[in-house]
Amino acid sequence: KDFRNNVKPNWCPGCGDFSVQASIQRAAANVGLEPEGLAVVSGIGCSGRISGYINSYGFHGIHGRALPIAQGLKMANRDLTVIASGGDGDGFAIGMGHTIHAMRRNIDITYIVMDNQIYGLTKGQTSPRSSAGFKTKSTPQGAIEPALAPMEMALTAGATFVAQSFSSDLKELTALIEAGIQHKGFSVINVFSPCVTYNKINTYDWFKENLTKLSDIEGYDPSNREEAMNTLMRKDGLVTGLIYQNQEQPSYQELVTGYSTEPLAHQDIKLDEQKFDELLKEFM
Ligand code: SF4
Repeated sequence: KDFRNNVKPNWCPGCGDFSVQASIQRAAANVGLEPEGLAVVSGIGCSGRISGYINSYGFHGIHGRALPIAQGLKMANRDLTVIASGGDGDGFAIGMGHTIHAMRRNIDITYIVMDNQIYGLTKGQTSPRSSAGFKTKSTPQGAIEPALAPMEMALTAGATFVAQSFSSDLKELTALIEAGIQHKGFSVINVFSPCVTYNKINTYDWFKENLTKLSDIEGYDPSNREEAMNTLMRKDGLVTGLIYQNQEQPSYQELVTGYSTEPLAHQDIKLDEQKFDELLKEFM
């Protein structure tokens, strides 16, 4: 089970996205997947290239649209493990509508956000995750808006698996991706993945100084949503680990009435002309 392929990533040396790629590959192998059992769907941005760097099915979608594609894939073929991935601009700006609804829908896929708090591919503009005061080409006098709080937003939107990690902590990130894949429902993992070229504020050293591991907070209970929210607010969102998990809520697939027992992708879709004519009449 080798999830490496022979495509050489063209990320800048030191980019946090390398570790996300390695962690997905390790996690997929650790949970016993085969390359043909995994689909990685991505949006647009430096991070969007990841779907081409993993030996699995890959779909490099359009900006902000990784989640609708990933959800469609999973609904058509539930036998696939589906990972959607992209950057903070992709998922929390243009794709935000999809992000919120995928969270509350609880379709059984894993969404990994490479959060570098800037738009890297377009050479360094302020993103929804940039802090107030952050100076870039698009905000030369400093960003006016406060940064979006993705984990608080995920809790509010109804996500059933909410986690956060840091690119340089491969062990924790791999374990969280494994747990996300195994979670029955929608799992979101926000990864602090530094852009070494354009973000000179939120660097590896900055994160090392400012992050708190939830495993270091005595008695932290990820099944308690209120505690999760309070902890995030107290720590300004700068925590890593499993923030919240609800293992009781059924997934979207379990709730859909009439969802066939056989994945659509495996069904004989020969056209039944009579049924087709009946269907057409409904629209005439
Ligand atoms: Fe990574 Fe930033 Fe380089 Fe893009 S520009 S590859 S995000 S370091």
